[in-house]
Amino acid sequence: MLRYLFIGLLGLFPLLTMAMCEPQRVMVQVLGSGGPELNDGRASTSYLLWLDNKATVLVDVGPGSSVNFGKTGADIKDVAAILLTHLHVDHSADLPAFVKGSYFSQRDVDLPLYGPSGNQLMPATTEWLAALFGENGVYRYLSDYMSGEASYRLNAIDVPLSPLKMKTYAISPQIELTAMPVHHGPVAAVAWRVTMAGCTVTFSGDMNDDFDTLSTLAEGSDVLVMHNAVPETAKGAAAHLHMTPSQIGRIVEAAQAKQVIISHRMRRTNDREASALAEIRRYYDGRVLFADDLDNFIVGQ
Ligand SMILES: [Zn+2]
Repeated sequence: MLRYLFIGLLGLFPLLTMAMCEPQRVMVQVLGSGGPELNDGRASTSYLLWLDNKATVLVDVGPGSSVNFGKTGADIKDVAAILLTHLHVDHSADLPAFVKGSYFSQRDVDLPLYGPSGNQLMPATTEWLAALFGENGVYRYLSDYMSGEASYRLNAIDVPLSPLKMKTYAISPQIELTAMPVHHGPVAAVAWRVTMAGCTVTFSGDMNDDFDTLSTLAEGSDVLVMHNAVPETAKGAAAHLHMTPSQIGRIVEAAQAKQVIISHRMRRTNDREASALAEIRRYYDGRVLFADDLDNFIVGQ
């Protein structure tokens, strides 16, 4: 009887039930927990979101991520979208490997690729994709993936960088993507929030939060993946580009994130996890975990 009463109540409050993270349905797997260094023993930045045991959304595709994608057992034909936080090499360079590799899969539906618009330093995502796979691109032998003559088409979407507001893309009844411009020095950059099965996972990408936008995007996230590329003592260019651990603590506390994953780990932050955690703990007392390649986090637990 109680069970029926509960189901009846769910029917009365559909908005409430949509906001609840359904346990065991969504996982975040780390394909790359490192930055651009060659000798950090990590693949560069990339994350794979699983929904009901299917590889569903890829966030960044840094060097090494295509190899780790294969190790997870994921199938590229299942991926509904690729999201890019920015176009630095350590976040984007494996895209050609994913596209070429997909030739050997059964993929036959178009693949949207969302990334930032351009600025003075960086090309727009559409421009970057055309420079790779267009008729005059460096990988022009794969231009069928732009023209639609291949088994599917790559579609780039440029996310606006101004105003500093969220932009939402509903790509299926189950999956919503929301981007927010973030400050990564002179680099065009966005953070991403992905909502699926009522679970919300937010990815900071590289940033230093001078725009003060991330805590709004990440509000109430079930998982918030934060990049810790610099120690607390960072100054100059490094601090202009990246968040210090205390900044991370302030943001995750403001966002009231339920769980935090620290990634984009670099040699300058290696062996400083305890001090980084102490800085974060000055503001935030929730669960904080440090990412390694191929770690898999169940969302909503
Ligand atoms: Zn990076």
